[in-house]
Amino acid sequence: MNTEAREIVASYLTGNRVSHEELERACNIINAEDRAYADYLRREVGLSSDWTNTCDVFLEHVDTFCEMSRDERQREMPSLVRHAEECASCRGVYWDVKGFWQPSALIAEAKTVVRQMAETLRLGVDAAGLLLERGLTPVPVLRLGVAGVQLDAEKTVDGRGFLMEEQEEAVAGLRQKEWVLDDEENNCSVRLKIEGLPEGGVQIWASLEASAGSLVQVAGARITVRALESGSVWVQAPLEKYSPSGPPLVLPGGRWTISVHAVGGDGNVEWRIPLDAEAVP
Ligand SMILES: [Zn+2]
Repeated sequence: MNTEAREIVASYLTGNRVSHEELERACNIINAEDRAYADYLRREVGLSSDWTNTCDVFLEHVDTFCEMSRDERQREMPSLVRHAEECASCRGVYWDVKGFWQPSALIAEAKTVVRQMAETLRLGVDAAGLLLERGLTPVPVLRLGVAGVQLDAEKTVDGRGFLMEEQEEAVAGLRQKEWVLDDEENNCSVRLKIEGLPEGGVQIWASLEASAGSLVQVAGARITVRALESGSVWVQAPLEKYSPSGPPLVLPGGRWTISVHAVGGDGNVEWRIPLDAEAVP
């Protein structure tokens, strides 16, 4: 068994950038020498033997993929949609090309520009509160399970970790994840930290971070959470209340719209994030 090859693949599967050459080398080693892990990848992660080739095909078509509507993609490139949903690396490229925010709408009477996130943040929450990314959900920046988890020394391989259970955990997702949604137009980013709750809900901490030169006023920013279907308001509060150092905003499972509002250079800005959290078995 080649621990390094397994580490490279696990790192790739959990959204870290791995060069194509490095990945291919690791896959060749695993396919040739590590039958158990190759079977595991096929069975548990759903990767077929040509999955690195599919990454190449995805990268070739990523511009077209980004320009298509959801329906067009589903109709014309269903296998690439499936691949991107499973492959954190390709999903990362998708978001790099697409950008997080769609062309703005304008609510004239409120002098507000709406920045709508291009896809729904879709999360499955399992019975233990672990978060699973669904659909084209952006790749989180923080995955505690891969680098940060304290592995039991006795259980590790060569003292370095990455037993199959840990990999499974890393692949399936962990209880707490963090997203940084950059808005290049406004020189700022919305940061969301989300933790799964055992009964299918989530708790959220949110903040707005402005880069040097940004005209966005972080002080005074607000957050509103609405039920997606009814539009009824669940929470309306100063954003500061749910900063990462404070208590979280608790949301039951369901479909929500999270809005962060702030004063920008040219009136008000609203960043609108659709969130879909559902309990999974
Ligand atoms: Zn891929």
